[in-house]
Amino acid sequence: MKAQTAEINVRGMDCANCASTIERAVASLPGALAVHTVLASEKVVVTFDPARVDAAAISRVIEGEGYACSLAPGDKAQPGAATPTASRAVLTLFGLAAGVLLLAVVLGEWLGLFERITGQVPWFAWLAAILIGGYPVFRGVVRAALGRRITSHTLMTVGLLAALAVGEWTAALLVVFFMRVADYTERFTAMQARRALRDLTAMAPQTARVLREGLEHEVSVAEVGVGEIVVVRPGERIPVDGEVVWGQATVNQAAITGEAMPVEVEGGSQVFAATLAHLGSLRVRADRIGEDTTFGRVVRLVSEAETNRAEVQRLADKVAGYYLPAVSGVALLTFILSRDPLATAAVLLVACSCAFAMATPIAMLASIGAAAKRGLLIKGGKYLELLAKADVLLLDKTGTVTLGRPRITDVYPFGSATTDELLTLAAAAERDSEHPLAEAVRSEARVRGLVLPEVTRFEAVPGQGVRAELAGAVVAVGSRRMLSEALNTPEAEALEAAGKTLLFVLKDGELVGLLAAADTLRPEVPRALEQLRALGVRHIELLTGDNARTAAAIAAPLNIGYQADLLPEDKIGIVRQHQAAGRTVVMVGDGVNDAPALAQAEVGIAMGAAGTDVALEAAHVALMRDDWLLVPEVFALARRTMRVVAGNLAFTIAFNTAGLTLAAFGFLPPVVAAAAQALPDLGILGNSSRLLRPKRAPRHEARGEPQPHLEGSQ
Ligand code: ADP
Ligand code: MG
Repeated sequence: MKAQTAEINVRGMDCANCASTIERAVASLPGALAVHTVLASEKVVVTFDPARVDAAAISRVIEGEGYACSLAPGDKAQPGAATPTASRAVLTLFGLAAGVLLLAVVLGEWLGLFERITGQVPWFAWLAAILIGGYPVFRGVVRAALGRRITSHTLMTVGLLAALAVGEWTAALLVVFFMRVADYTERFTAMQARRALRDLTAMAPQTARVLREGLEHEVSVAEVGVGEIVVVRPGERIPVDGEVVWGQATVNQAAITGEAMPVEVEGGSQVFAATLAHLGSLRVRADRIGEDTTFGRVVRLVSEAETNRAEVQRLADKVAGYYLPAVSGVALLTFILSRDPLATAAVLLVACSCAFAMATPIAMLASIGAAAKRGLLIKGGKYLELLAKADVLLLDKTGTVTLGRPRITDVYPFGSATTDELLTLAAAAERDSEHPLAEAVRSEARVRGLVLPEVTRFEAVPGQGVRAELAGAVVAVGSRRMLSEALNTPEAEALEAAGKTLLFVLKDGELVGLLAAADTLRPEVPRALEQLRALGVRHIELLTGDNARTAAAIAAPLNIGYQADLLPEDKIGIVRQHQAAGRTVVMVGDGVNDAPALAQAEVGIAMGAAGTDVALEAAHVALMRDDWLLVPEVFALARRTMRVVAGNLAFTIAFNTAGLTLAAFGFLPPVVAAAAQALPDLGILGNSSRLLRPKRAPRHEARGEPQPHLEGSQ
């Protein structure tokens, strides 16, 4: 059996309740293997056994639940077309209107205005108004009933019938009205949650100008072939990932990195889709298009972030499952004890919103969407939750704490060999290694104009060095691990104490020399670590394959612990040890050679992930630009998000408890109960939208520039 996956677009799936209804309905189909809903893009992703069921049958089941479906196109070359969203102004107006109405109703009820008009209107007019106004709700309730399901609308309809039974016509009609208002509020809430994502996808260019036989053709981005040349004019978004083959421009890469400071590009530069070209036109060779571009991947990962649900959300979903039965129970009890149909109706009406289930996802979505625009890709609410309670922060050294661009600073030949002979041997042995140290050796040889001999065999020893066969000898270059016995000369110790990495060069097993390489600390690291400590991250540790003295030289001024001489698998082991001790581990790496350790950590953060597929896939959080200050930023964001989630949950729980209690004791007229329903939605919406506005250190601090010392300047 070969499983297939289908993406089905579902219109009208806008709250967590609807989503779980659909999930349950589809999962009950024989042949459906896995199903998850993506609220942010109104999608259901189903993995199924094609021998037993097909996508059309799955769509029919979803339609049977009262939603409109369409199959997502299999080959989506464009990462999401722009869709209109509710503007903030509309939303504010809507909130105000709802507030005013609520006030009017409470006042009207209090002054007895409604009773006064009731008598003037014949009963059939009331009935018609109720049926017409409530039609979409009643239709849903009947459908659900046919499928033997009870929804929040079912309870509200029972409440409505209770009001009608005692002749409360006005109340019943207003209840219908407020049920619809609450539905719209909910839909707005869901729409707002999707807004950040939609703002992101709106940056995707839709068309490209391709050069074909010397002529420019305007085509949709989906039609650009890999290898074709596209023309980009000033003020346009670059439609593909690729290399500049002609021209010069400044490019604003904010769409990917969140950094608006433009970068200069010219022939040979890499450029990214969705970034904005200024001051100059470009010809770009398309290397990747559509969903394969970095931007396309980011959009996909962000829109799938919902599937990585936080633990609190799982819990809330579980509780929400018991919620309707609980409300029905309270209603029944109220009726039995008080014999008051109005109090019973109020109970059924007051506590039936989706707000509780939405409290977590709406905050998570707002946070993740806003972060994506700042160059911070977070793959799910789960990771925000874990970041907020992290105990241990592990840092990889090379390429993470340092720039990962070492230079050779010292060359010590032993015995009769000259400096150039030693470098020639080492550079030839390193010819095929992708390690940054190898590049340092090669570039030193290049600068000195050395001619390298042919290499006949090459082997990389991970975390140690390289071994190669050249000019009839076996040459090894690498750390102390490559030596059969420990070597500690005074100059070696002095170089290591200065934070340099030593490369030992062996020819046929004999030590012929020593190279020292120095890497530069990333300038923002000290400030970033300071901010992390201020956020309460206590245990910070440097992990490196380098030796202990070098590690200490780097770790000591940063005031962090270190573990040295580690092989790549040792790093995974250290992550596991912390986890076994019950700690939540966050690891920061460059995502390339430490990908397994990043994946093992609860939260793996990859630096500079733009353009590096491995990093983007392996990490749970990817920083789209090389800015260490994004690390404390994501920690701070995680905490803010969890505070907002806690606030949302507390608010909905308090509201529902208070509402139920007041209603059960007859203090809440049904109309007010129905009107108040929209409040928790508006509450969590307002609270969560705080996350759309990023908080950040002032600009000059964020750049990590040294502060001028004025005291010493006279
Ligand atoms: P890190 O943990 O700092 O990222 P690695 O695990 O990549 O370091 O490598 C650990 C050590 O192995 C390096 O400090 C270096 O001494 C040695 N090494 C690894 N690859 C090479 C190479 N290609 N040439 C020389 N030395 C190497
Ligand atoms: Mg490394």
